Amino acid sequence: DARVVIVGAGIVGCSLADELTARGWSEVTVLEQGPLPAPGGSTSHAPGLVFQTSPSQTLTGFARYTVEKFSSLKVDELPCFNPVGGLEIATSEERWADLHRKAGLAASWGVRGELIPPARCAELWPLLARDRILGGFHTPDDGLARALLASRAQLERATARGARFLDRHTVTAIEREGGRVTAVVTDRGTFPADAVVCAAGFWGPLIGAMAGVDVPLQPLAHQYATTAPLPELAGVNDPRTEASRPILRFQDRDLYYREHTDRIGIGSYAHRPLPVDPARLPAYDDAPVMPSSLPFTAEDFAPSWAESVGLLPALGASRVEKGFNGVFSFTPDGMPVIGESREVRGFWLAEAVWVTHSAGVARAVAEWMTDGRPGTDVHACDLYRFEEAQRSPAYIAERGRRNFIEVYDVIHPLQPVEQPRPLRVSPFHVRQRELGGYFLEAAGWERPHWYEANAALAGSVQPPPRDAWSARHWSPIAAAEARATRERVALYDMTPLGRLEVSGPGALDFLQRMTTNQLAKKPGTVTYTLLLDEAGGIRSDLTVARLSEHHFQVGTGGALDLDWLLRHAPDDVRVTDITPGTTCVGVWGPLARDLVQPLTPDDFAHEAFGYFTARRTFIGHVPVTAMRLSYVGELGWELYTTADLGLRLWDTLWEAGRRHGVIAAGRSAFNSLRLEKGYRAWGHDMTTEHDPYEAGLGFAVRMDKGDFIGRAALEGRGAGTVTRKLTCLTLDDPAAVVMGKEPVYADGVAAGYVTSASYGYTIGRTVAYAWLPAAIAVPGTAVHIEYFGEKVPATVAAEPLYDPRGERIRR
Ligand code: FAD
Repeated sequence: DARVVIVGAGIVGCSLADELTARGWSEVTVLEQGPLPAPGGSTSHAPGLVFQTSPSQTLTGFARYTVEKFSSLKVDELPCFNPVGGLEIATSEERWADLHRKAGLAASWGVRGELIPPARCAELWPLLARDRILGGFHTPDDGLARALLASRAQLERATARGARFLDRHTVTAIEREGGRVTAVVTDRGTFPADAVVCAAGFWGPLIGAMAGVDVPLQPLAHQYATTAPLPELAGVNDPRTEASRPILRFQDRDLYYREHTDRIGIGSYAHRPLPVDPARLPAYDDAPVMPSSLPFTAEDFAPSWAESVGLLPALGASRVEKGFNGVFSFTPDGMPVIGESREVRGFWLAEAVWVTHSAGVARAVAEWMTDGRPGTDVHACDLYRFEEAQRSPAYIAERGRRNFIEVYDVIHPLQPVEQPRPLRVSPFHVRQRELGGYFLEAAGWERPHWYEANAALAGSVQPPPRDAWSARHWSPIAAAEARATRERVALYDMTPLGRLEVSGPGALDFLQRMTTNQLAKKPGTVTYTLLLDEAGGIRSDLTVARLSEHHFQVGTGGALDLDWLLRHAPDDVRVTDITPGTTCVGVWGPLARDLVQPLTPDDFAHEAFGYFTARRTFIGHVPVTAMRLSYVGELGWELYTTADLGLRLWDTLWEAGRRHGVIAAGRSAFNSLRLEKGYRAWGHDMTTEHDPYEAGLGFAVRMDKGDFIGRAALEGRGAGTVTRKLTCLTLDDPAAVVMGKEPVYADGVAAGYVTSASYGYTIGRTVAYAWLPAAIAVPGTAVHIEYFGEKVPATVAAEPLYDPRGERIRR
């Protein structure tokens, strides 16, 4: 049997041992430096608030499983989860609006919740200063996890199934051979291992370093304090369960609360970031309390205390009796970090995990280790989601601190990271700035969403005015850019989209095995195809250009595709990320050919340069790979060249384009045009939880081409067998908008959720894609989408909405 060594017996290590032994793993050893059952990591003092609702469906799924699992666990008759419910209160209009949005998220992901007036908030929490509150969001199924009890319950269950937990064993080295882990060395001996899971919490980077694997997290201290006993709480709570009132969040002031029998615990994210170097923390026996509990810095807490007295006036007669600065992990994007190292096989991470998500993460990692893939979509937590440019210690430290500050902020879905910026810029960046680009950020890239230079065009197009939320990071200029693309021609910077080179004698066979569509076509063809996992779930969608017999260029969604291909590539195939050294501009619009043809020696006529073909040629002085593709549904080309020639390429196109009225257009217009054409965006519209037929991508699957990953799972499936569908909706009111992730109701019953949405400037109404049951996904069906608590009528539409016969791209 394979031997697994888990490093760390916090909530994550214990949950994982439970999940692995439940799946038949019999040789599980958990090594823990501290003494059990409270070994001194973050779990040992976590107050255990579990709020399940998150913008991330993945995190909500993890949390739901944690609640379900901990509710079923008991130690000495004490339950490991206390379902007191959750209450988030708003004291500002902005927060109150955001709670409406949050209620929508809860409905989308299947969490019960209700917006309630101040009087009801005060009923649930009698100590609240009711007059300060505009309202609350009550989630009856949230509550308190007893992290140490839940650790113990899972430890005992795993032990009964044969797992070993060895405390007071400090891991000092990870042994490797031939690119695999072989053993874990401790101060008390060496433990042979076929797999090692790093569940060492904020010590993870130290354990990772022992294996040569970066663990991208920043430990920070976070303050937690407890009041003296309050007369108002005398006799209210049973000391065995400690709390009866909902866990409470006051996010306008970065604060949260829970009951500890007759005391109140207060957590604060309002203080300055307090980064911690785990290598400098004392060992358990040398620590005053425990290694993860640093001395309380009262001056940092003072403003939070004052705010707390304002919200809970009874605290005015009390004081902070105990407090500490507790350490836990923050990642560049606030998500956990899980998965197996590619360089050191058998070395797994289960890091940066809150108690809230612990059971869900542990289940996903156990499934991954057992079946080769997690049972749910976890791409947003994948160790390899970060690009090279996002892996520096400086980036991780800076993003971690920033995420501490923003943890309770109202975050707009388009809100860019503030620092470090600019990090990655395309060769066109100087021109984009001259044109007044409005930049947002993705994967470190500066991406213009529209250009102020096009403001003059905006007068001719009048998109409906917007509410304050949807107007953020939006401009009516986008409508003008979309129209210019449909009517004339526009340049789109496609540089931030990933590009891989796949080459070598085995390249075709390799790509054929990895993807769903037929790629055995003559050089010069481009194919839209899918990467699936073994279960037939969509890992990504790609455009694969066969540039010569053994040389392919692959357009990808990002870093995860590179990882997946590298993991599978045989020796005679080279997979290289060429994104950073190359650039791409999309020249799209009915005048694209008029613009490009005079600049190139090649024939760009439809007959000579067909749709979905590629060739090497020149644009003026610039050697390019030209691909006749279009994400926006208009005639045009993607032109690729090396980064050094990018600016020259842009300028050449710009100069030649003047007489055709060329403009530069941004992502905002792009998204609108793509949705009108029904082009899906992986990660938003579909993930590994969906198969190609459900996602409406069956056309990219060739079951007759030979074997490929995921083929066996698709056997017997087809468009006719699906029970849910990615569905095109249009909003009935031409002035209405939605943003994505809103719940969709059919006959008043929650039926699904929106994936992507954008105003369709050409069709004159908002387009929303949504997952819905197949029975509802019939054109003409009336549904409604809930947007900030309002019911927005929508109708299922036949897709694509724009140019369904594709005549505009094939001419
Ligand atoms: P840990 O519990 O830290 O476990 C890691 C273990 O690894 C430790 O026991 C450590 O001793 C061991 N280890 C490390 N290095 C070695 C080594 N070299 N050899 C052997 N063993 C090693 N989360 C919530 O969901 N809700 C909350 O309300 C909440 N409140 C919090 C309040 C505070 C004040 C703090 C600090 C955190 C809070 N968190 C909360 C976060 C949560 O506590 C952590 O995210 C979670 O406990 C992490 O669990 P873990 O198992 O990954 O890490």
